[in-house]
Amino acid sequence: MLKCREVVNEADQFLSYDLSRSRQWRFKFHLLMCKHCARYIRQFQALKNATPFMHPKASDKEVTRVMDSIDDQAPSL
Ligand SMILES: [Zn+2]
Repeated sequence: MLKCREVVNEADQFLSYDLSRSRQWRFKFHLLMCKHCARYIRQFQALKNATPFMHPKASDKEVTRVMDSIDDQAPSL
């Protein structure tokens, strides 16, 4: 069985499905057996979802497209 420390260290890879299949399975098994780690992973996941700055930034092209579409919708004065 994985150690709690390993779960904490690899939480990010686990949630990103970056671990090997067997590792992922052992991880899940640990979470079933260990309520501390299960709670840690839940909180880690919530934190990941709540931090938009961890997502890649919009490119200049995307920003321009959005700004153009706003201009199109704005009432002309
Ligand atoms: Zn644990």
